[in-house]
Amino acid sequence: MTDSRYIPGIFNYCDYWCERCAFTRRCRNFAMGEAQEHEGQVVGAVDDASRQDFWSRLAGELRDTRMRRTLSDIAELDDPDDVWVADPEMERRIEDRHKASQEHPLASMASDYAMKVADWLKSTDADLKAVAEGLRRSAHEVFEEDDLEEQALEIGDMIEVVAWYHTLIAAKTGRAVSGLIQRKNETGLVARLGLEDANGTGKVVLAAIERSMAAWLRLREILPQREGEILDLLALLTRIQHGIHSALPGAKAFIRPGFDTGL
Ligand code: SF4
Repeated sequence: MTDSRYIPGIFNYCDYWCERCAFTRRCRNFAMGEAQEHEGQVVGAVDDASRQDFWSRLAGELRDTRMRRTLSDIAELDDPDDVWVADPEMERRIEDRHKASQEHPLASMASDYAMKVADWLKSTDADLKAVAEGLRRSAHEVFEEDDLEEQALEIGDMIEVVAWYHTLIAAKTGRAVSGLIQRKNETGLVARLGLEDANGTGKVVLAAIERSMAAWLRLREILPQREGEILDLLALLTRIQHGIHSALPGAKAFIRPGFDTGL
């Protein structure tokens, strides 16, 4: 089932921010309402084939099955046409990889970043409201020439950027690390697929880090009293960035369908 409107696999290496995506018309995932699926989590999946959620969940299952099938092929099943059946040894390897990826220093740093940003966002309400109050006061000043509306929108945008990417950076870093481990532990096609996915995912992380850093630098100016925490978060992002470049030297040059090839 092909449709030339859609760019194959574009959603594999995007940031799931459909609201801000220039490729919604070229993305099958968006067209199917899968935009809320993050790292395999389907929101509101139901057992009702008349709902898009049902098909979103099915798409996830099919993707998993294909991957397992690839693993089975590599493991040289007697009959390559056999339907895939549970293989405890393979399940164990996948589980081990998942565990190892969670314990990897890069994934730990990214999780640490996500938790710290979540705490920061929770604790910053009063500071942001004070900034909002300052803007309200300025609006009453006769000689105020700054574009206050623009400032308010910019602050909202910066907050949205760091909020959007903090969990994405953690999830995608975990996936990139998992691909790296797959490359190390497997052979042949499965190893190559692992590295390719790690590079593509690493590139998404790098873009998310760059956008987050730009937002933090602006927030640092807006909230000077929170500068120390913001600098710590920037330092953590820098370490993750260096870690991705070091572990995945191919990430930067990875060509993402659509995003790096154009409309
Ligand atoms: S490619 Fe764009 S439209 Fe498709 S899921 Fe990703 S962000 Fe959303």
